[in-house]
Amino acid sequence: MSTALGRRRYLSNFEHHRLPHLFSDVLVLGSGVAGLRAAIEAAEHCDVLIVTKDDVRQSATAYAQGGIAAASGGGDSPDDHAHDTIATAGGLAREDVVRGVVAAAAECVRELSDWGARFDLEGDKPALGREGGHGANRIIHAHGDATGREITRVLLERVAANPRVRIFENCFVIDLLTLDGIVVGAVTFHPKYGHQMFWATTTLLATGGAGRVYRESTNPAVATGDGLAIAFRAGAVLRDMEMVQFHPTTLYVAGAARALISEAVRGEGGQLCHRDGQRFMSEYDERAELAPRDIVSRAIASELKRHRIPNVYLDVRHFEPGQFARRFPTLDRLCRDFDIDPERDLIPVRPSAHYMVGGVTSDLDGGTNLEGLLVAGEVASTGLHGANRLASNSLLEGLVFGRRAGARAAERAASNHRIDRPPALSHLLPASPRTALDLSDVLNSLRSLVSRNLAIERSGDRLRETIEIIEFWTRYVMDKVFDDPSAWQTQNALTVALCIATAAATRCESRGVHFRSDYPNSDPNWRCHVDLRRSDNGIQVSTTPVGGEPAAAET
Ligand SMILES: Cc1cc2nc3c(=O)[nH]c(=O)nc-3n(C[C@H](O)[C@H](O)[C@H](O)COP(=O)(O)OP(=O)(O)OC[C@H]3O[C@@H](n4cnc5c(N)ncnc54)[C@H](O)[C@@H]3O)c2cc1C
Repeated sequence: MSTALGRRRYLSNFEHHRLPHLFSDVLVLGSGVAGLRAAIEAAEHCDVLIVTKDDVRQSATAYAQGGIAAASGGGDSPDDHAHDTIATAGGLAREDVVRGVVAAAAECVRELSDWGARFDLEGDKPALGREGGHGANRIIHAHGDATGREITRVLLERVAANPRVRIFENCFVIDLLTLDGIVVGAVTFHPKYGHQMFWATTTLLATGGAGRVYRESTNPAVATGDGLAIAFRAGAVLRDMEMVQFHPTTLYVAGAARALISEAVRGEGGQLCHRDGQRFMSEYDERAELAPRDIVSRAIASELKRHRIPNVYLDVRHFEPGQFARRFPTLDRLCRDFDIDPERDLIPVRPSAHYMVGGVTSDLDGGTNLEGLLVAGEVASTGLHGANRLASNSLLEGLVFGRRAGARAAERAASNHRIDRPPALSHLLPASPRTALDLSDVLNSLRSLVSRNLAIERSGDRLRETIEIIEFWTRYVMDKVFDDPSAWQTQNALTVALCIATAAATRCESRGVHFRSDYPNSDPNWRCHVDLRRSDNGIQVSTTPVGGEPAAAET
């Protein structure tokens, strides 16, 4: 057990009487769809501070291509959308959450349109794309394949128009601050202003996912899983961390940083094949290229293993001339940047880590087991995705839960006293006498290990070995106090990786995106959540029935 990780409450040293203090009703951490939507809602009623570690536009949201799922075509309905979401979720979705989210989808899209979002149209109606696992065309998109950029633009305009919201960019959140177990803000680091302490009645964590813990990922550089590790250290319950979704098709060209080729390409007829044009998906699933992501990713992984090849190909050569470039302008440009002409050439692809399905356990309004802490977006486990996320449901989740959590944060602000004087809170850990470390080497080694053993196919032996290796690294990485974001990100990545490995080793079955070669089938006894929380010994593991509250903390 990793006691080094379990005992570590704060990563950084700080002394309240030496630092600048900032106060607000609501503190939002992260500027993706969930954080921005939450801030807009809360700022209707109270003051909001947004803290984000890079430029405010840097988020997974800004890179989202395919779109937002919202049943709006003839013959489609929220009931059908709910059915597809639950069918994909491997028995772990919460039906009340699913129904609530899909019912709100059309209104979320209408609201964005009212705020100025320009979604693609067919005539005077939204153009609807198709993606894997959806039984109907229901993906609303913008500028072909730049939906996230358009949503970010509109939400940021809305935020900028509200004087009650202030944004702090390039401000790295190191940890949540707690007093008697209640979350009261966060300690941050800014390259110019150094450490700062932010105090708020309610803190809303919207820091997104953890794809960058893997060597191969579709995620932007900011997605290092900080929020998951930060919540874990503060005592929040992390749920179903073994559920990491891989995207089947990322461009596999040296230098292309695993850019994602949207699922919508397959939705519109793109075919997976080998170098000689031979298709293979129908051997794995009757829906062929339109099967859900986990099935397509596993099929590709199996082809890679079987033929000992580094990648397969996506074939869009049968599209009408100019059709691919019109529908997917960003992807067309990307391919051409690497001398691939989609009208003539096959596009080399392979799966890579894409979406953290698990996360901080939340209730219907983003509430967590910690008073004062709400969560929304990819960092949360709301019950919508269960064991597997249906394509294009996450922007939707960010909008719905962002709004709900923002409203709840404002309510808390109205009924609680605002912190207006800094509480006496300091943390001082002595310097470690051990040797200095090359942390970039630790991070590279971790990413390789995780990509090898915590990817699409796992096995008990390799999971145990992975846990041992990460625990070994944590012993000498977690006993030190560092003073820069890249070091804290490495400590966070170790924490998140150990949580993924622990949960994956606990769940002795295959379900959703979690596939164990030593337990290849689903087991009805495992139709439950795996919950993790920090304890002095490392990680305390428990299981909870679907829809249940996490087990009470050990006292
Ligand atoms: C390439 C790509 C394509 C996608 N396409 C789609 C799609 O078409 N449809 C769909 O529904 N979903 C899609 N997804 C998934 C979806 O984009 C994300 O799940 C969703 O945008 C997450 O939103 P979020 O607000 O939770 O987090 P993010 O958008 O990732 O925002 C997180 C924010 O937190 C900040 N942050 C992180 N750590 C810290 C820290 N320590 N301190 C301060 N700030 C911090 C980040 O800088 C960022 O601003 C895609 C994802 C990727 C990567």
